[in-house]
Amino acid sequence: MRLVFIGPPGIGKGSYASELSKRYGIPHISTGDIFREEIKRGSELGRLVKEYVERGELVPDEVVIEVVRRRLSMDDCKRGFILDGFPRTLRQAIELDRIVKIDLVLNFVAPDEVIIERLSGRRICRNCGAIYHVKFRPPRIPGRCDVCGGELYQREDDRPEVIRRRLEVYREQMRPIIEYYRERGILVDVDATGPIEEVVRKCIEVLRRYGLVRE
Ligand code: AMP
Repeated sequence: MRLVFIGPPGIGKGSYASELSKRYGIPHISTGDIFREEIKRGSELGRLVKEYVERGELVPDEVVIEVVRRRLSMDDCKRGFILDGFPRTLRQAIELDRIVKIDLVLNFVAPDEVIIERLSGRRICRNCGAIYHVKFRPPRIPGRCDVCGGELYQREDDRPEVIRRRLEVYREQMRPIIEYYRERGILVDVDATGPIEEVVRKCIEVLRRYGLVRE
Protein backbone atom coordinates (compact mmCIF):
# COMPACT_ATOMS: atom_id res chain seq x y z
CA MET A 1 0.00 0.00 0.00
CA ARG A 2 1.91 3.00 -1.27
CA LEU A 3 0.26 6.18 -0.14
CA VAL A 4 0.89 9.90 -0.43
CA PHE A 5 -0.69 12.25 2.11
CA ILE A 6 -1.25 15.82 0.97
CA GLY A 7 -2.56 18.73 3.01
CA PRO A 8 -1.61 22.18 4.29
CA PRO A 9 0.72 22.44 7.27
CA GLY A 10 -1.27 21.97 10.46
CA ILE A 11 -4.13 19.95 9.01
CA GLY A 12 -3.02 16.93 11.05
CA LYS A 13 -1.52 14.79 8.27
CA GLY A 14 1.33 13.71 10.52
CA SER A 15 -1.10 12.44 13.17
CA TYR A 16 -3.25 10.53 10.65
CA ALA A 17 -0.16 9.07 9.01
CA SER A 18 1.28 7.94 12.32
CA GLU A 19 -2.02 6.21 13.33
CA LEU A 20 -2.35 4.43 9.99
CA SER A 21 1.32 3.51 9.96
CA LYS A 22 0.87 1.68 13.30
CA ARG A 23 -2.35 0.04 12.18
CA TYR A 24 -0.96 -1.36 8.92
CA GLY A 25 2.70 -1.80 9.86
CA ILE A 26 4.08 0.43 7.11
CA PRO A 27 6.55 3.28 7.69
CA HIS A 28 5.44 6.88 7.95
CA ILE A 29 7.98 8.87 5.98
CA SER A 30 7.91 12.61 6.60
CA THR A 31 10.52 14.61 4.73
CA GLY A 32 10.06 17.46 7.23
CA ASP A 33 10.86 15.08 10.13
CA ILE A 34 13.89 13.71 8.26
CA PHE A 35 15.22 17.25 7.76
CA ARG A 36 14.57 18.31 11.37
CA GLU A 37 16.34 15.18 12.60
CA GLU A 38 19.35 15.84 10.35
CA ILE A 39 19.50 19.48 11.49
CA LYS A 40 19.46 18.32 15.11
CA ARG A 41 22.27 15.86 14.43
CA GLY A 42 24.25 18.56 12.66
CA SER A 43 24.89 16.26 9.69
CA GLU A 44 26.02 17.47 6.29
CA LEU A 45 22.44 17.15 4.98
CA GLY A 46 21.20 19.02 8.06
CA ARG A 47 23.56 21.92 7.44
CA LEU A 48 22.53 22.00 3.79
CA VAL A 49 18.77 22.29 4.49
CA LYS A 50 18.80 24.28 7.76
CA GLU A 51 18.22 27.74 6.32
CA TYR A 52 15.38 26.65 4.01
CA VAL A 53 13.54 24.81 6.78
CA GLU A 54 13.90 27.68 9.26
CA ARG A 55 12.59 30.18 6.72
CA GLY A 56 9.66 27.89 5.79
CA GLU A 57 10.93 27.68 2.23
CA LEU A 58 11.19 24.59 0.05
CA VAL A 59 14.44 22.65 0.04
CA PRO A 60 15.79 22.26 -3.54
CA ASP A 61 14.21 19.38 -5.51
CA GLU A 62 17.46 17.46 -6.16
CA VAL A 63 18.17 17.27 -2.44
CA VAL A 64 14.67 16.12 -1.41
CA ILE A 65 14.30 13.64 -4.27
CA GLU A 66 17.60 11.97 -3.40
CA VAL A 67 16.62 11.71 0.27
CA VAL A 68 13.27 10.11 -0.65
CA ARG A 69 14.80 7.77 -3.23
CA ARG A 70 17.21 6.44 -0.61
CA ARG A 71 14.53 6.10 2.05
CA LEU A 72 12.11 4.21 -0.26
CA SER A 73 14.82 1.72 -1.21
CA MET A 74 15.07 0.52 2.41
CA ASP A 75 13.68 -2.88 3.36
CA ASP A 76 10.86 -1.63 5.56
CA CYS A 77 9.21 0.00 2.51
CA LYS A 78 8.67 -3.29 0.68
CA ARG A 79 5.09 -3.72 1.92
CA GLY A 80 4.29 -0.07 1.42
CA PHE A 81 4.66 3.34 3.05
CA ILE A 82 2.96 6.63 3.77
CA LEU A 83 4.72 9.64 2.30
CA ASP A 84 3.96 12.83 4.21
CA GLY A 85 5.23 16.20 2.96
CA PHE A 86 6.44 14.82 -0.35
CA PRO A 87 5.93 15.59 -3.22
CA ARG A 88 5.76 19.38 -2.80
CA THR A 89 6.56 20.32 -6.43
CA LEU A 90 5.44 18.93 -9.79
CA ARG A 91 8.99 17.83 -10.46
CA GLN A 92 9.07 15.84 -7.23
CA ALA A 93 5.74 14.18 -8.22
CA ILE A 94 7.07 13.22 -11.64
CA GLU A 95 10.32 11.88 -10.17
CA LEU A 96 8.37 9.93 -7.55
CA ASP A 97 6.47 8.14 -10.35
CA ARG A 98 9.81 7.07 -11.78
CA ILE A 99 10.88 5.62 -8.43
CA VAL A 100 7.68 3.77 -7.50
CA LYS A 101 3.99 3.31 -8.38
CA ILE A 102 1.74 5.24 -6.00
CA ASP A 103 -1.60 3.54 -5.23
CA LEU A 104 -3.52 6.42 -3.73
CA VAL A 105 -3.16 10.07 -2.73
CA LEU A 106 -5.22 11.33 0.22
CA ASN A 107 -5.77 15.08 0.02
CA PHE A 108 -6.75 16.42 3.47
CA VAL A 109 -8.95 19.52 3.37
CA ALA A 110 -10.28 21.93 6.05
CA PRO A 111 -11.11 25.67 6.36
CA ASP A 112 -8.21 28.06 7.13
CA GLU A 113 -9.49 28.97 10.63
CA VAL A 114 -9.35 25.31 11.63
CA ILE A 115 -5.78 25.04 10.37
CA ILE A 116 -4.55 28.17 12.17
CA GLU A 117 -6.08 27.03 15.48
CA ARG A 118 -4.42 23.64 15.15
CA LEU A 119 -0.98 24.99 14.24
CA SER A 120 -0.61 27.62 16.92
CA GLY A 121 -1.42 25.03 19.63
CA ARG A 122 0.88 22.32 18.35
CA ARG A 123 3.69 21.09 20.63
CA ILE A 124 6.35 18.52 19.84
CA CYS A 125 8.55 16.39 22.10
CA ARG A 126 12.16 17.47 21.85
CA ASN A 127 13.26 13.94 22.66
CA CYS A 128 11.00 11.47 20.77
CA GLY A 129 9.07 13.67 18.32
CA ALA A 130 5.58 12.82 19.66
CA ILE A 131 2.99 15.45 18.68
CA TYR A 132 0.54 17.14 21.08
CA HIS A 133 -1.93 20.02 20.99
CA VAL A 134 -2.56 22.31 23.97
CA LYS A 135 -6.33 22.07 23.37
CA PHE A 136 -7.08 18.97 21.29
CA ARG A 137 -4.44 16.53 22.49
CA PRO A 138 -2.96 17.86 25.72
CA PRO A 139 -0.21 15.90 27.45
CA ARG A 140 -1.02 14.61 30.97
CA ILE A 141 1.55 16.99 32.48
CA PRO A 142 1.72 20.40 30.69
CA GLY A 143 4.97 20.80 28.77
CA ARG A 144 6.02 17.13 29.25
CA CYS A 145 5.79 14.21 26.84
CA ASP A 146 3.45 11.35 27.91
CA VAL A 147 5.60 8.80 26.11
CA CYS A 148 9.12 9.63 27.32
CA GLY A 149 8.85 12.60 29.70
CA GLY A 150 10.77 14.80 27.25
CA GLU A 151 10.32 18.56 27.05
CA LEU A 152 7.62 19.81 24.64
CA TYR A 153 8.41 22.72 22.36
CA GLN A 154 6.75 24.83 19.68
CA ARG A 155 8.30 24.42 16.28
CA GLU A 156 10.09 27.55 15.08
CA ASP A 157 7.98 27.46 11.88
CA ASP A 158 4.66 27.21 13.82
CA ARG A 159 4.93 30.93 14.69
CA PRO A 160 2.08 32.96 13.09
CA GLU A 161 4.21 34.98 10.66
CA VAL A 162 5.95 31.84 9.45
CA ILE A 163 2.59 29.96 9.25
CA ARG A 164 1.20 32.60 6.88
CA ARG A 165 4.24 32.28 4.65
CA ARG A 166 4.00 28.48 4.73
CA LEU A 167 0.29 28.52 3.77
CA GLU A 168 1.10 30.82 0.85
CA VAL A 169 3.95 28.61 -0.32
CA TYR A 170 1.69 25.59 0.11
CA ARG A 171 -1.14 26.96 -2.05
CA GLU A 172 1.18 28.13 -4.82
CA GLN A 173 3.15 24.92 -4.88
CA MET A 174 0.43 22.30 -4.43
CA ARG A 175 -2.15 23.37 -7.02
CA PRO A 176 -0.40 21.67 -9.99
CA ILE A 177 0.39 18.55 -7.96
CA ILE A 178 -3.21 18.12 -6.80
CA GLU A 179 -4.31 18.59 -10.42
CA TYR A 180 -1.70 16.08 -11.60
CA TYR A 181 -2.96 13.35 -9.28
CA ARG A 182 -6.64 14.23 -9.74
CA GLU A 183 -6.33 13.89 -13.52
CA ARG A 184 -4.84 10.45 -13.04
CA GLY A 185 -7.81 9.45 -10.88
CA ILE A 186 -5.77 8.47 -7.80
CA LEU A 187 -6.55 11.50 -5.61
CA VAL A 188 -9.27 11.41 -2.96
CA ASP A 189 -10.29 14.42 -0.82
CA VAL A 190 -10.67 13.67 2.90
CA ASP A 191 -12.51 16.19 5.11
CA ALA A 192 -10.16 16.77 8.05
CA THR A 193 -12.34 19.16 10.08
CA GLY A 194 -13.26 16.65 12.83
CA PRO A 195 -11.22 15.00 15.58
CA ILE A 196 -8.25 12.75 14.71
CA GLU A 197 -10.18 9.48 15.31
CA GLU A 198 -12.93 10.55 12.92
CA VAL A 199 -10.49 11.54 10.16
CA VAL A 200 -8.59 8.25 10.60
CA ARG A 201 -11.90 6.34 10.27
CA LYS A 202 -12.59 8.23 7.04
CA CYS A 203 -9.15 7.28 5.72
CA ILE A 204 -9.76 3.59 6.48
CA GLU A 205 -13.10 3.74 4.63
CA VAL A 206 -11.35 5.23 1.61
CA LEU A 207 -8.60 2.57 1.69
CA ARG A 208 -11.30 -0.11 1.87
CA ARG A 209 -13.26 1.45 -0.99
CA TYR A 210 -10.14 1.34 -3.17
CA GLY A 211 -9.44 -2.28 -2.22
CA LEU A 212 -6.15 -1.44 -0.45
CA VAL A 213 -7.18 -2.95 2.89
CA ARG A 214 -9.62 -5.77 3.59
CA GLU A 215 -10.93 -5.48 7.17
P1 AMP B 1 6.97 19.95 7.08
O1 AMP B 1 7.24 19.34 8.40
O2 AMP B 1 6.42 18.96 6.09
O3 AMP B 1 6.13 21.17 7.16
O4 AMP B 1 8.38 20.39 6.48
C1 AMP B 1 9.18 21.35 7.14
C2 AMP B 1 10.12 22.01 6.14
O5 AMP B 1 10.97 21.02 5.53
C3 AMP B 1 9.44 22.69 4.97
O6 AMP B 1 9.01 23.99 5.31
C4 AMP B 1 10.57 22.69 3.93
O7 AMP B 1 11.52 23.67 4.25
C5 AMP B 1 11.20 21.34 4.15
N1 AMP B 1 10.56 20.28 3.32
C6 AMP B 1 9.88 19.17 3.77
N2 AMP B 1 9.46 18.41 2.74
C7 AMP B 1 9.87 19.03 1.61
C8 AMP B 1 9.73 18.76 0.21
N3 AMP B 1 9.06 17.67 -0.23
N4 AMP B 1 10.29 19.62 -0.67
C9 AMP B 1 10.94 20.71 -0.24
N5 AMP B 1 11.10 21.04 1.04
C10 AMP B 1 10.58 20.23 1.98
